[in-house]
Amino acid sequence: MAENQLGGQQVVLLPEGASRLLGRDAQRTNIAVAVAVAGAVKTTLGPKGMDKMMVSDLGDVVITNDGATILQEMNVEHPVAKIMVNIAKTQDKEVGDGTTSVVILAGELLKGAGDLLDQGIHPTTVIKGYKMAATRASEVLEEFAKKVSISDEPTLEKIAMVSMGSKNVGDEKTKSELGKMVIKAVKQVMEKDASGKTIVDHDFIKVEKKAGGNVSDTAFISGVLVDKEITHPGMPKSMANAKIALLDVALEMEKTETDARIEITSPEQMQAFLKQEESILKGMADKIRKSGATVIFTQKGIDDVAQHFLAKAGIMAVRRVKKSDIEKLSRATKAKIVTSLDDLGSDDLGHAGLVEERKISGEQMIFVERCKDPKSVTIFVRGGNEQVVDEAERSITDVIGAVTSAVVNGKYVTGGGSIEIDLANELRSYAGNVGGREQLAIQKFADALEAIPKTLSESAGMDAIDTLVQLRSRHKSKGGEVYGVDIFKNSVGDMNKNGVFEPLMVKRQAIDSASEAAEIILRIDDIISSRGKSKGGGMPPGGMGGGMGGDME
Ligand code: ADP
Ligand code: MG
Repeated sequence: MAENQLGGQQVVLLPEGASRLLGRDAQRTNIAVAVAVAGAVKTTLGPKGMDKMMVSDLGDVVITNDGATILQEMNVEHPVAKIMVNIAKTQDKEVGDGTTSVVILAGELLKGAGDLLDQGIHPTTVIKGYKMAATRASEVLEEFAKKVSISDEPTLEKIAMVSMGSKNVGDEKTKSELGKMVIKAVKQVMEKDASGKTIVDHDFIKVEKKAGGNVSDTAFISGVLVDKEITHPGMPKSMANAKIALLDVALEMEKTETDARIEITSPEQMQAFLKQEESILKGMADKIRKSGATVIFTQKGIDDVAQHFLAKAGIMAVRRVKKSDIEKLSRATKAKIVTSLDDLGSDDLGHAGLVEERKISGEQMIFVERCKDPKSVTIFVRGGNEQVVDEAERSITDVIGAVTSAVVNGKYVTGGGSIEIDLANELRSYAGNVGGREQLAIQKFADALEAIPKTLSESAGMDAIDTLVQLRSRHKSKGGEVYGVDIFKNSVGDMNKNGVFEPLMVKRQAIDSASEAAEIILRIDDIISSRGKSKGGGMPPGGMGGGMGGDME
């Protein structure tokens, strides 16, 4: 197929086994793949959404409700499917929540585009209309948004609860506790940059997990949990009012890098050599003791002899600590990271109310806690087994994302599909003003947004069409704009009253990413694959990317 006639001579452009799809065929295939990917995550949307169990080729089991995780675990092959996976990942990275929604939205946008293409509308017109719609949708979001700040805990707690809503992480009480922990963590690490902008660096909210116990045992630690053990059994296991030194220093004899050799010819010389080594290591321990430190963490190693002297001085020491943990410890305890023992002084030391080694599910961990106003904190996640702690960790990461998005941007909207109905209504009236063929694309954009309330009502077992009709008419009356899907009562309900709040940023990012992905995919009108057909990832002409378990068209 990849051949051309040129002056009677055949020109072969593509290698043997390569395949090619052109124009409408390429678009149709790509749209079908995107719709299939969206179909694969659709049933997990919302609190009544189902979970998925994914089994890898190695037999690892992941049970999750998280859109980004599902798509990642699916290991999709088709390039368009990969674009869809990437938007979920971007959503996860940028705002931490709304990963299922963004994929559903992108799938619907493409489905709508497919209808328009069938009516003979050019892809560039569709793209232009979608861009206009996305811009207008952003403005409308701002118009409907309400303000929230870090001190507005009741609102933030609701945002946290909604973010956790669909995740299987314990009862309401546990979820509420987890939400409070996340808000506390965000509050602790939040800072203002030079221009007065709020920043929250997620690196400094450490989410450490260990299977065992119950999700309700999950704890907030005002400091850092280090997954290490104390180096020497003779050292104290617990230190109250710890004075902490953070070192990037090896408490060992320097290893010679070159080939230099020390010639030892007599037992006396050997003795002298060992003595000297010992006194150097003792000197190191002395420097630490003199600084007043009672606990040290070093990125490097600690020699047995040095351990012995430190233990004798009653100092607790932890070696080979990850650089990232040392940085967290520095922000939590206010200790300076010291790179040479000669520089170590009392003002480099940090403080923690308690440093203690505890045995958790058979393994030692070091708790550096009760720090004063720590700029780095830890949420220690527990749960019955690996699957449970993993999902709890993912949920907590989502909540951190949601709460952060809310406080950084300072705005939230009502969820349960209510904001999507508002956006759709506004877009439909905007479409009327725009006119031209673009208006058709803007209307499709509106339809795509309504897939969110539609899917929510379907997952609650309600009639989706009835629900949409009811919601649209509710939203036309004054005060009706907060009506959405009340999944627990199986009716339409006031999302303001139900406290279904979501950060504006999560919605905006979803709309931006979904329309961008739709644009990228629609621009493709030629797919050339030179991958061997035998590899499974190849492209049989006419259809590909099967086995996705979605509703392929
Ligand atoms: P995502 O990965 O997109 O965040 P979720 O499974 O978390 O997907 O579902 C989010 C959707 O569920 C949002 O549209 C949100 O408004 C809706 N939702 C969450 N909690 C409720 C609730 N209590 N009532 C109605 N809708 C809810
Ligand atoms: Mg969510």
